[in-house]
Amino acid sequence: MARYTGPVCKLCRAVGMKLYLKGIRCSSPKCAIERRNTRPGVHGQSRQKLSEYAIRLKEKQKARWTYGILEKQFRRTFSDAGRSKGNTGAKFLELLERRLDNVIYRLGFATSRPQARQWVNHGHFAVNGRRVSIPSYRVRPGDQIAVLPGSAAFVKAGLEVASLPHPPKWLEVNRETISATVKALPEREDIDTPVQELLIVEFYSR
Ligand code: SF4
Repeated sequence: MARYTGPVCKLCRAVGMKLYLKGIRCSSPKCAIERRNTRPGVHGQSRQKLSEYAIRLKEKQKARWTYGILEKQFRRTFSDAGRSKGNTGAKFLELLERRLDNVIYRLGFATSRPQARQWVNHGHFAVNGRRVSIPSYRVRPGDQIAVLPGSAAFVKAGLEVASLPHPPKWLEVNRETISATVKALPEREDIDTPVQELLIVEFYSR
């Protein structure tokens, strides 16, 4: 499955904030945002006045890079949200949150979304008793998520370093058995991703 393979700290610097793509390094003084919070490139230190378009583009990129999705799939998810009832922006974030790789990260089973994505890709998790290796798999209320027996040891090691004491309230986690239940769909207030979804809606509606 296609994914971005370039330098990820550059993405954080491009949007001027931490996107938490490198696990525990992101909370350490080695983080590039802590050391050098300027835009990448030779003009990175110059002052920049963003156009209305650039503001919306930046917000869209921030969300896309946070969830680690390429443009085509991101756009498709937005179209799915647009076809649903209710607020398109909130629905869009809900669909992004329900991705299996994001859920594994939210549960604290992986230290970053890229790591969660790789673990899902390698088939370490099962949903409702069946192995799922598709990071974009959309979980539903009632789904049971569990690590497969052969993978429990290293996921447990990851659990010890992941600093997520409380998963969001729409997920119920059992850290002993490394399993979880999806209790409900995520509401907007459950999603702490720092993006303004309205700007993304405006970007795609232009
Ligand atoms: Fe972003 Fe993490 Fe790199 Fe810091 S260490 S710049 S938060 S990916």
